Amino acid sequence: MASLSLKHIYKVYSGGVRAVSDFNLDIDDKEFIVFVGPSGCGKSTTLRMIAGLEDISSGELYIDDKLVNDVEPKDRDIAMVFQNYALYPHMTVYDNMAFGLRLRHVPSKVIDEKVQEAASILGIQHLLSRRPKALSGGQRQRVALGRAIVREPKVFLLDEPLSNLDAKLRVQMRTEITKIHHRLATTFIYVTHDQTEAMTMGTRIVVMKDGIVQQVDTPTTLYDNPANLFVACFLGSPQMNIFKAKLVEENGNLYALIGETNKVMIPKSRALRIIDNSIIGSEVLLGIRPEDVHYEQALVDAHPESVIEATIDVIENLGNETILYLNVEGKEDYTISRVNSRYTFEQGEKVKMYLATDHAHLFDPTTEFTLMGVPDYNLIPAQAVAVEGTLAVMFGDTVIKLPEELLNRITDKSVINNQVLLGIPPTALKAEGEEGDAYIEGVAEFYDNYPRFKAVYAAVPGMKNYLIVSRPLDSEFVGGEKIKTYVDISKIQLFSADGERLIADAPLAGNTTKGTIANVNGTFGYRFAADNGTKNKMSFDNYTIEADESGVKQHKTKFDDLQTADVETPMYIMPRGMAIDKESLAQTPKMVLTGIIKHLDEYRKDAIVTVEMAGINGDLTAIIRNFAGYNTGDKIKLAVNPHAVVVGEYESVAAVVTSEAAQNEGEVRRKEIEAARAKEKELEAAAKQPAKPKKEQAATTAEPAEKAEAAKKPAAKAKPAARTTAVKRPTAKKK
Ligand code: ADP
Repeated sequence: MASLSLKHIYKVYSGGVRAVSDFNLDIDDKEFIVFVGPSGCGKSTTLRMIAGLEDISSGELYIDDKLVNDVEPKDRDIAMVFQNYALYPHMTVYDNMAFGLRLRHVPSKVIDEKVQEAASILGIQHLLSRRPKALSGGQRQRVALGRAIVREPKVFLLDEPLSNLDAKLRVQMRTEITKIHHRLATTFIYVTHDQTEAMTMGTRIVVMKDGIVQQVDTPTTLYDNPANLFVACFLGSPQMNIFKAKLVEENGNLYALIGETNKVMIPKSRALRIIDNSIIGSEVLLGIRPEDVHYEQALVDAHPESVIEATIDVIENLGNETILYLNVEGKEDYTISRVNSRYTFEQGEKVKMYLATDHAHLFDPTTEFTLMGVPDYNLIPAQAVAVEGTLAVMFGDTVIKLPEELLNRITDKSVINNQVLLGIPPTALKAEGEEGDAYIEGVAEFYDNYPRFKAVYAAVPGMKNYLIVSRPLDSEFVGGEKIKTYVDISKIQLFSADGERLIADAPLAGNTTKGTIANVNGTFGYRFAADNGTKNKMSFDNYTIEADESGVKQHKTKFDDLQTADVETPMYIMPRGMAIDKESLAQTPKMVLTGIIKHLDEYRKDAIVTVEMAGINGDLTAIIRNFAGYNTGDKIKLAVNPHAVVVGEYESVAAVVTSEAAQNEGEVRRKEIEAARAKEKELEAAAKQPAKPKKEQAATTAEPAEKAEAAKKPAAKAKPAARTTAVKRPTAKKK
């Protein structure tokens, strides 16, 4: 078991070939790290430097905090498994595995124990007396692994160990190596050029190209948030479609123009993530994965704003799915689509396809960096207070009033007159604003340059961390300068204390219907009927059957607070009362609603899902935590919590916020907050009183130690792994 740290590692071969440049990585104990990239990108060289088989030209390598640049390979406690497993042909499997230990004069009893144990882990006990030539390729590869396992190394290095095996065996060995990793609970570093191996095996993947690390992250993050075009196209098969497009803004919406005729909308949830708004009006590369190209008529009809036309050129039916190669006006290469094989297509057919732009990626055509960068949000603890007929978010001296349109997108009424986390994207903070716009005032302290923008860090009253403001790269930075930055309210977000986002992309559907809930001997039967005549039903056994002391079976009620409705009554389903995980679905198999996903509004692991559902007016909104595995157009099963079905009229968030009770309570809250703030200011003023040296007069409002601590956090968070970020951090702040 070991952790590793690679710091600024370079490898230049004699003759001047630079194989690896500035490789930086911290590997935790027990991780399964995969180095992946095309042939010649420096993966093996890096692995061989870790093993000690290759000198490090420059930089430092630590194993368990010990500098090992000059430690002999045999003393690094590392085992390496190669593509060419090179077993000794004249020795039995047992002797091949025991050989290294015998060289080290390990007692034969101990050797025997270790060989037997490794053989049982690998399932090759029955082969111990055979010679290598009597083994299959997969069995030989297992013996090679066994030779490494018996040494009980701190770190396993595996260099394309499966590439000599046939396709079927490779898949099998892939899962076996993963299992061995779990069983040994040791650090694994695995080199491959195969993106499927990388995606399926790695806990984290290092994507390399031309000796340079492109991005390091978990498989899902790399797939969903590639840092650049190379990573986007390298992972995923068939690879991501890249359209040359122009970004334009029309009526407050963002569109990508492809060629002369095709235009697709970039939904708010995606547009919000664009780091630098100055890209609007320019050429970009729009990335859409093949699984995000849809033909289902219902989806094409539901998304007229994101439909383009294409002609089918090649059809590959793979049995379980069909891959289509299409020609699109304005795109030189094929557009690839991956569809269910039950749809039939004809070569030459003209089709309309819906590009699910809620999964769109945007790249800078010059730098090929993503335009959707980190950090997503400044997170600011604040109070949401119902005042002046709306909801205002307050912290320090800042008050941000939410427009009514936004109130109807709030997913949780409990935020009203409560503590929240206000999320403001750095790009939603503008230098210019209009009279009456919400603004934040602070003092600019330092900045980081990103490839496309300057992140300015400002100290703001009422905030512990710095506020990160995005400014053009060529904008002038003056340390210590007072800045006033305007908030683009359409881009803000509210989060609950545990990080769940509370503002949806679109107004909530309300999830209303009419129906009855009957209780027949403890079984609740739900019947829903929507205004358009569609119906739905489900049921729930509100009891378990348990034997009492005398062994007689008894019905035991689960909940005694479930509602019933004998005659048809208005009712609604709470968006948070539905789940998609297997366990919930299995637990209440008859308490399940099935529908088609019309819209997905995903953020990190959470999603606000709009589902077309029989028996529900309009659509059904479900807010699902740990959402995974679905695309727009998929059928989804929702396990409904019986407590989430509420009898009565649905009351919108806007209605609750503007109610007299909430507004009265808000007024009291506001007075308390303002009094507390006034007190704080008094204390700050008093603290400034004793004569200080002039230099520090303009200093920040919080304690210096606290600020210094805060300074570390945003900087570390904001720094994307794969980019070289020039950090300008003047220590002497101002004149
Ligand atoms: P990968 O494992 O990603 O296929 P390598 O680490 O083997 O790539 O090679 C990286 C680069 O270094 C390649 O351009 C390769 O030609 C070069 N290279 C590898 N070994 C040597 C060597 N011994 N001498 C000179 N160049 C080398």
